[in-house]
Amino acid sequence: MSESSFDVVVIGAGPAGYPCAIRAAQNKLKVACIDEWKNHDGKYAFGGTCLNAGCIPSKALLESSELYHRARTEFAAHGIKASGIEFDLSAMQKRKTQIVKASTQGITGLFKGAGVTALQGHGRLLAGNRVEYTAADGTTSTLVARHVVLASGSAPMELKTVPFDGTTVVDSWGALEFAEVPKRLGVIGAGVIGLELGSVWRRLGAEVVVLEALQEFLFMVDQQVAKEALKHFNKLGLDIRLGAKVTAAKQGAGGVTLVYTDVSGEQQVMVDKVVVAIGRRPFTSGLLGDGTGVELDERGFIKVDHECRTAAANVWAIGDVVRGPMLAHKGKEEGLMVGDLIAGLVAEVNYDAVPSVIYSAPEIAWVGQTEEQLKASGRAYKVGSFPFMASGRARAMEATAGFAKVISAVDDDELLGVHIIGPMAGELIAEAVLAMEYSASTEDLQRTMHAHPTLSEALHEAALAADKRAIDYPNK
Ligand code: FAD
Ligand code: AMP
Repeated sequence: MSESSFDVVVIGAGPAGYPCAIRAAQNKLKVACIDEWKNHDGKYAFGGTCLNAGCIPSKALLESSELYHRARTEFAAHGIKASGIEFDLSAMQKRKTQIVKASTQGITGLFKGAGVTALQGHGRLLAGNRVEYTAADGTTSTLVARHVVLASGSAPMELKTVPFDGTTVVDSWGALEFAEVPKRLGVIGAGVIGLELGSVWRRLGAEVVVLEALQEFLFMVDQQVAKEALKHFNKLGLDIRLGAKVTAAKQGAGGVTLVYTDVSGEQQVMVDKVVVAIGRRPFTSGLLGDGTGVELDERGFIKVDHECRTAAANVWAIGDVVRGPMLAHKGKEEGLMVGDLIAGLVAEVNYDAVPSVIYSAPEIAWVGQTEEQLKASGRAYKVGSFPFMASGRARAMEATAGFAKVISAVDDDELLGVHIIGPMAGELIAEAVLAMEYSASTEDLQRTMHAHPTLSEALHEAALAADKRAIDYPNK
């Protein structure tokens, strides 16, 4: 078995692992990054879940389906007459696949440019900071590393009572690959992924029923925003049933019967395809050899401290495989931090300023605390909000649904939370994240000039409204 040595070996080239490898290489370290992801064509591809089966393909289909939906429902309001609007699903899927390909091939180029040794195949941490690498042809070699970074990501959770079969009952990746629009689609789980996928297929004509065990809709979202969001999902035609816990699926000639319980007892709904979107679990199978010293918690996450150090010396873990929100950008920041810490630089991740986005229409985005969390904490707060209905730019865009909401501390004016539902909310939230990162006060936001007419003025006005000084909307 051959041996080669590196300063850093990263296992996993998703949005956590590949930026970590590049940053470590930028810090003049000798780096290798190993990834085993294979797409349906049987080819290896860097980029992990996010680029191959998550963030990127889902946004490609969300964009295409939303354009089709808008052409049918909004063009008339702009005075555009369009008839016979149709879509070609295979062309949509082809476009999505090309976007994924361009993105994943881009990483190969980035590795090359940064001088990272890119290895496709399986990586396994052995005791004593050695990594066993198994290449595509089955040959194994050992990499000796001063530091090892584990970035093995996550996998979809399976519902034991509704097991995946790859055709009728699928996971989120399967739901991005449908070759035909299902007539009736059942989505189990009204989390971010379930709602985004449900929206895609609803816009393309499927009857979509979403079954969610919890009674509260989007429990992690500011409830004023969640309430507004539910209105829009219902308007789109998503049949969202809350307090509906799925307990079984029976396949028959007419489709799949999903059995669920709600307050009234046992219920059934018949669908043609089922997407199970009940969450994701950390993925560590085949990752750890004997005696590595790396510990897992009771839910299977690799245990790390605030700087992503595992229990084993010089072994780090980042991204979905460790605690914290399962988001690409959270993993990326952890990757950059670890790439710098290994090189002896100062770095940290601010876990209080992690933005979240739901790419629905209208979009939903937030950072910081919700009003419910603040009520529970007892800290006195003030709220300012501004409806997009009062924004000139939103009106011009025919996109007036939703609002921006700013929550600030009464005592020192600290910006505690920003919640937006409306056009381009996912882009607008970046300003709030930056403001929080720099510990801006609400007054700082109020005194910052915003271009007119832009959607960002909604955030400016919401900040002004927190002190009842909004200009473009009556203060309450
Ligand atoms: P992953 O992306 O899962 O990458 C891990 C990589 O490691 C994989 O390529 C895997 O094959 C490889 N690997 C694992 N073990 C080994 C091993 N032993 N040897 C070699 N290679 C190994 N997040 C967002 O922030 N925004 C979004 O819009 C968004 N949309 C999503 C939509 C969907 C449908 C899904 C499923 C997820 C979405 N996410 C989104 C979540 C996002 O994809 C994850 O948070 C992100 O991919 C986690 O990055 P990671 O690098 O930790 O893991
Ligand atoms: P997330 O973790 O954000 O991806 O969301 C997954 C959602 O699936 C959560 O809101 C869970 O409450 C929901 N869920 C989990 N199990 C079931 C089930 N058996 N039936 C319906 N919903 C479920």
